[in-house]
Amino acid sequence: MVDDSASALHSIADFVRGYETDARLRGFRCQNCSLVTATWGLACSRCGEPKLEEFALSDRGRVVAFTVLSVPGEEFLNDAPYAYVVVDLDGGGRVTGWMPAVKADSDLSIGAPVRFVPGYKPGVQFAKLPPGEER
Ligand SMILES: [Zn+2]
Repeated sequence: MVDDSASALHSIADFVRGYETDARLRGFRCQNCSLVTATWGLACSRCGEPKLEEFALSDRGRVVAFTVLSVPGEEFLNDAPYAYVVVDLDGGGRVTGWMPAVKADSDLSIGAPVRFVPGYKPGVQFAKLPPGEER
């Protein structure tokens, strides 16, 4: 029998809703091995531990992959072209998001420091850190 008092806290619906209502990124931390992940799951992807606690992710990270899209879906029509980005957050967690200011491959580079921008647009929006805030 699984103790679902903990898992009830993070249904996939709650998780998706969190992105829409909170101005922060939410993830999970394994209570057994402390792995931090941004990906919802029934158990830890590293050790299989089912007890994952909600964990506030950093809003800063670095780009590990990106691609510039010029033919977007309807929701992003006015923002095209933009970049689809994969970001490794400081302190753990990997999230996918998008950056409206990136119009060409030369506008961004792998390893670039970025920050999460809360907004009304769907998805997780990132922006480049201004010079001086980079570490
Ligand atoms: Zn684990």
